[in-house]
Amino acid sequence: MGITTGFYLHPASPLHDTGWGHPEHQGRLRALASAVGREMLSLHGIVEQREGADADVEDLLRVHTQAHVDTVRAACDLARTRQALISLDEDTKVSSASWDAAVGSAGTAIAAAAAVASGDLRTAFVAARPPGHHATPERAMGFCLFNSIAIVARWLQAYGHAERVLIVDWDVHHGNGTQDAFYEDPSVYFLSLHQWPHYPGTGVAEERGSGAGEGYTLNVPLAAGTSRAEYRRRFEGALAEATGGFRPDFVLVSSGFDSMAGDPLGGLLLEPEDLHAMTRHLIDEVASDCGGRVVALLEGGYNTERLGLGTAAVLRALAGLPPA
Ligand SMILES: [Zn+2]
Repeated sequence: MGITTGFYLHPASPLHDTGWGHPEHQGRLRALASAVGREMLSLHGIVEQREGADADVEDLLRVHTQAHVDTVRAACDLARTRQALISLDEDTKVSSASWDAAVGSAGTAIAAAAAVASGDLRTAFVAARPPGHHATPERAMGFCLFNSIAIVARWLQAYGHAERVLIVDWDVHHGNGTQDAFYEDPSVYFLSLHQWPHYPGTGVAEERGSGAGEGYTLNVPLAAGTSRAEYRRRFEGALAEATGGFRPDFVLVSSGFDSMAGDPLGGLLLEPEDLHAMTRHLIDEVASDCGGRVVALLEGGYNTERLGLGTAAVLRALAGLPPA
């Protein structure tokens, strides 16, 4: 069968320091990597751990303004000079290692997508931080500096690997930054399921895109405590609606694990087997016409034990293995 699935890490990711009191702390990746490490025996020969690369500024600028890139770089430089954490907003902080981590996060996602686009891999999971889906073209927010998933979608298009990209966001929070990046663009369909009302406040069902992009954004706001069965029903229904008039040739996932039961920042109830089934649904039903090309990127997930279990479940599904 051979290697089908990449598990991507970047050496700077664990060094991005937000302080241990911050939910998006350095221990998240350690927990995730050790959970995946425990699975490696069953993943052996199918999943390969790979190291990512750095994005170029040119890659960032397909999504972000030069002013935003300059602001993030200046804050990271200041953090290095002062050897202190610098706040970009109330909950978004950078340390001396954050520039390398931020371009590493985006670049590793590009490396994973490149391997899948070339046919070297069928699927991939990108375990990099900082996360990205709240970063808008103009600003950092919600723990996010650059919007990696948007950057990858634009990279795929820029290099002719995809014309129509579907982005599915199952983080418990609305992916406002990704929505902003493609709100007027019919070539990138953005589907988000999220708890509502909740941070960041956007993502009501009436937000459907505008101009040429009208109808290419789909938001599914869900009340805290929505049952797993209802979530799965809404997930499959929304995908059926999305793909009714949009045939993606690449599928990207903003895989937040804060939609799992027990997350300190969320009130949804998903279990690892739900994430496994949702991932398989994407590969088998949604990406079946484009070779099952699915790349999932880590976003949130703040209960470190659950984060590990969830990642292992998604990775097993990406690799075609049954739930653990
Ligand atoms: Zn989140």
